[in-house]
Amino acid sequence: MRHALTAIADELKRLKRTGVREISISPTSLDRLREAVAQRIANGEGSGTAEISEPEPTPEPAEQRAVESEVPPAPVIGRAQPPKKPALPAPPRVVLPEGDQATRWAALREVVLRDATCVAHAGTGNQVVFGVGSLEADIMFVGDAPDAEEETQGEPFVGPAGQLLTKMIGAFGLARNDVYIANIMNWRPQMGRDASGNQHGNRPPSREEVDYCLPYLRAQVEVVAPKIIVALGATAAHGLLGNDSFGALGEVRGKWHEFSGKPLRVTYHPSYILRNQSNRSKRMIWEDLLQVMERAKIAITEKQRGYFR
Ligand code: URA
Repeated sequence: MRHALTAIADELKRLKRTGVREISISPTSLDRLREAVAQRIANGEGSGTAEISEPEPTPEPAEQRAVESEVPPAPVIGRAQPPKKPALPAPPRVVLPEGDQATRWAALREVVLRDATCVAHAGTGNQVVFGVGSLEADIMFVGDAPDAEEETQGEPFVGPAGQLLTKMIGAFGLARNDVYIANIMNWRPQMGRDASGNQHGNRPPSREEVDYCLPYLRAQVEVVAPKIIVALGATAAHGLLGNDSFGALGEVRGKWHEFSGKPLRVTYHPSYILRNQSNRSKRMIWEDLLQVMERAKIAITEKQRGYFR
């Protein structure tokens, strides 16, 4: 990807030297470039160097306009504006108040929703996302970072992956409200936004971002005290087990781990099934969930056991 971006940048510089000020680029390609550049910035590569931006109205000489008129009106690849992301302070130290479970949970939720770092990183008009579900839950699911729907509604797993997660939970005879659902992150990792304020695509959170939010997840585990935690996907698993704990998710599937003193099982993220509708991928997640339900002593019928066999 780095070579492809460098090659694009070189070609743009060459075109600029020949006097070209605008090029035609499809919205899809523009989105891909935005994602690639944001990913590099998130990885700390070339931070603040190049961001694809919307056209800037620049007065041009008449001859140049003639060159431009050969291509349809198109977005300009313009001067970089580094994303205005406030630096992250040290992770918060959470002190839960005295009181019953509901009081402690509500107080924690309030702290997270008002956390100035979370609010600043969520960005104007977007919501900080806190866990939802039963405080009596035996099972806590932990996903990666909120997506577009989640930052709009301020609730984890309400988009397409969340709908599938709800269906999977339902297939075990449980309702969404019987479990607890949280994210490893309390905000959607930000990338550039278009003129209407929309972010196209997602980037994985940085380790620093995850580390900032982890005390809030630990505090939710302490308050809800589930019997079992399920990490959905590699980002959640890396967050809970540590970045160096595995390369491929398959290495940590199929065994019990521990997080905050609770048994932890790792499985694929529901969005993996959305991208890959094969019976094999469904069966892998199903088998992981069967292990979770068994350990949580949730009755499983033979029919449920046999799904996807
Ligand atoms: N993916 C997640 O892991 N969590 C969400 O809330 C949305 C998408």
